[in-house]
Amino acid sequence: MKNLVWFRRDLRAQDNRALFEAAQTAQDGVVAVYAVTPQQWMQHDDAACKVQFWLANVQSLSQSLAKLNIPLLILKSDTFAELPKKLVALAKKHQCGSLFFNREYEVNEVLRDDQVARACDTAGISVQRFHDRVIIPPREISTKEGRFYGVFTPYRKVWDTKLMEHVIVLPAPKKQKSIDVPASTVPTSVKGFKSPKDIDALWPAGEKEAQRRLIAFADHIAEYSTGRDLPAIDGTSRLSGYLAAGVISPRQCAAMALEASGGTINEQDEGARVWVSELAWRDFYTHVMVGSPRVSMHRPFKSKTEAINWRDDQGDLEAWQQGRTGYPIVDAGMRQLNQTGWMHNRLRMVTAMFLTKHLLIDWRLGERYFMENLIDGDLAANNGGWQWSASTGTDSVPYFRIFNPFSQSKRFDTEGEFIKKMCPELKEVPAKALHDGAKLTKAIADLEVEYPPYVVDYKEGRERALAAFKAL
Ligand SMILES: Cc1cc2nc3c(=O)[nH]c(=O)nc-3n(C[C@H](O)[C@H](O)[C@H](O)COP(=O)(O)OP(=O)(O)OC[C@H]3O[C@@H](n4cnc5c(N)ncnc54)[C@H](O)[C@@H]3O)c2cc1C
Repeated sequence: MKNLVWFRRDLRAQDNRALFEAAQTAQDGVVAVYAVTPQQWMQHDDAACKVQFWLANVQSLSQSLAKLNIPLLILKSDTFAELPKKLVALAKKHQCGSLFFNREYEVNEVLRDDQVARACDTAGISVQRFHDRVIIPPREISTKEGRFYGVFTPYRKVWDTKLMEHVIVLPAPKKQKSIDVPASTVPTSVKGFKSPKDIDALWPAGEKEAQRRLIAFADHIAEYSTGRDLPAIDGTSRLSGYLAAGVISPRQCAAMALEASGGTINEQDEGARVWVSELAWRDFYTHVMVGSPRVSMHRPFKSKTEAINWRDDQGDLEAWQQGRTGYPIVDAGMRQLNQTGWMHNRLRMVTAMFLTKHLLIDWRLGERYFMENLIDGDLAANNGGWQWSASTGTDSVPYFRIFNPFSQSKRFDTEGEFIKKMCPELKEVPAKALHDGAKLTKAIADLEVEYPPYVVDYKEGRERALAAFKAL
């Protein structure tokens, strides 16, 4: 019998638990499958650029697998609902006795996998599932009382003690004997997901590219703790899209950081320490989502914040979405998202806080817009980031600590280099005026620049937000 490996958001041949185990135990070879589920992706607000990136990576994976004589088949199914039947039929057609896959942790995905497992069971096909998406499986860390952590710092302490035992990177499986199953043609596009962004050039597909980025980042990981907040420079790895699609594993990332620090990360390895901390945040938000599934059903982590009286203002929401708020750093961030499918972390915090605090617009609308546009859109991380910024989540920023958009740009884009790149109409505006409301208004008038007026006075917006939170 053959083994069937079902690829999802783990689009790589190296360090892939399910693939590795399937190859180890296969008697008559391995067959791979990827399911294209457009309606489901629509329902999940998956961005067109992300879907295009997935398809390009499936294509690249298919080529890597072909070199190992593993054919990759494409299964078309509008939603998850038909997958149990279709996967069983496919397994039977190719005489596969077992189905292997890596776990996904979102509510719909867990439901889908349970239904597939039941259908396989009925059909006499065994199912093997693996933890692969995060470094430490979500349920492996718990409080003394056996609960999920709701605060990062104590979670991180336990995570640190377990890191080394989990950073084991597996090779790609060995080349198998050729089998008589032809690979499918991978679609290059899917109806309903047309990306306006030049995705291939900005985010080239493939494991080689992800590894290239990781190695390039290793050279300056030492400067991460100082460079990570500056959007004008390449101070971060820009691996999030690759991690979200599973083109690279978080273990491979942690292994690089350990290697760059000589095997263990000590006090003096500040850059590596902070970077690994981000990988821990990634694990943590998945841990939170598994422990509190309500967060993936549009509910706040802190139930009390359910009662916030959010403003319903389509005009303000659109100004934010389009990068026309009149606040240069906010607009630069939103335009980066719209043009490239990615936004720098500092700006994700600034723009998310601006929407939820200064504009007092529901975080769920921002979360959705990010998901619809991000190449790295990931339910757990996106939800975690939004709820942090909106002060509705775990560990979130206290509601009264509201980022002042001008102080943020002064501190993190002092010369206005990034702002001017994303908002070229402000090219001639002196840097100092970019960080000061009155000077900006004057410079815009003097230079006759076409730049939108403020959507809200940030001081008034701040007071309004404070009042809304105090009213809880
Ligand atoms: C409002 C908001 C929404 C966000 N939405 C997402 C999202 O949908 N998908 C996503 O991957 N990240 C999200 N983040 C986290 C973070 O902004 C991105 O992971 C980061 O900007 C990606 O750039 P990078 O790969 O260069 O990161 P690096 O700084 O190089 O970090 C390395 C990796 O660690 C992970 N990571 C870094 N920061 C975080 C974090 N705060 N939370 C969880 N994981 C993190 C990412 O996988 C990232 O690729 C969001 C943050 C905020 C504030």
